Amino acid sequence: MNAHGPRVSSQQAGPRVVVVGSTNVDYVTRVARRPDVGETVAGEDLTVLPGGKGANQAVAAARSGAAVTFVGAVGDDVHGTMLLEALIRDGIDVTGVHRVPGASGSAVIVVGPDGDNSIIIIAGANAKVDDNLIMEESAQIGGASVCVLQGELSSAATTRAALSAAAAGVRVVLNLAPVIELPTEVLRVADPLVVNGHEAAHLLGLSAADVERDPGAAATRLHARGPLSVVITLGAEGSVVLDQDGVHSVPARVVDAVDSTGAGDAFVGALAESLAGNQALLSASTYATAYAALAVTRRGAQASYPTRFEAEEFVR
Ligand code: ATP
Repeated sequence: MNAHGPRVSSQQAGPRVVVVGSTNVDYVTRVARRPDVGETVAGEDLTVLPGGKGANQAVAAARSGAAVTFVGAVGDDVHGTMLLEALIRDGIDVTGVHRVPGASGSAVIVVGPDGDNSIIIIAGANAKVDDNLIMEESAQIGGASVCVLQGELSSAATTRAALSAAAAGVRVVLNLAPVIELPTEVLRVADPLVVNGHEAAHLLGLSAADVERDPGAAATRLHARGPLSVVITLGAEGSVVLDQDGVHSVPARVVDAVDSTGAGDAFVGALAESLAGNQALLSASTYATAYAALAVTRRGAQASYPTRFEAEEFVR
């Protein structure tokens, strides 16, 4: 917590990852069938959980073994306290998290019978992460090996964080989820750019089916936009990785999927930890694939994330 909270980074060991991103309170319900327009359906139950792409990725990286610093904002409401406590419980340094007036970010998540989800995001405090806040935290960003960014903060804040990380020689993992407009100079420092099939399609002006048909070609076209490397995740189909040696297909682990909420975040957090530990992109992606597969066998986002030990045991 900026200026209030305990600094825990000195106790952390492991590869250093800074996540600049969103924290949300997730309101999650399961439905037997999604409502049509104008229709009401009954949800099975309601759980209120800590989430947000940034926080999820930070938790996945921490449980994978990284020393994680989080830069972002929570509201001065009761949920802000819950979100901070969730990060602290995983040993994440929250000295870069600013407590701002108003509501914390939130998300309404509807999980369907197939385990797939639909999400509505309300930015709240995340909208208050601006250029100035990022500049205040530039030492936190510059002190890491890997800086992880998503699309849930403003374009200005994300741009500032990416360029500040790159200028300090910090590797930038850019998870463009959701897709936001960013200057080409930001795309050029992404190593890798990580997107799912829908996001890749959106960026390229294709249909998701086009990307699924030939994800390698989509990765090549995304690479032409400037990123140093590219990963496209494809759910149960695994992922494609484009590195300096070309395009590689990484098959998903075959599992009984229970809840895919936060699978992409599990993948990105585990990937970042592995890259910060000096693994090559392909081997980091293989680890992230195993990590995310185990996460989809359990309910929830952060609640489903395993430790590195569990993920390695799972694929042994
Ligand atoms: P979400 O938005 O639900 O967090 P996403 O769309 O960003 O997810 P996905 O491509 O669905 O991300 O999943 C990320 C990775 O997680 C995949 O590349 C794959 O390795 C793993 N994964 C996802 N779903 C499954 C599944 N059903 N079985 C095995 N692995 C899976």
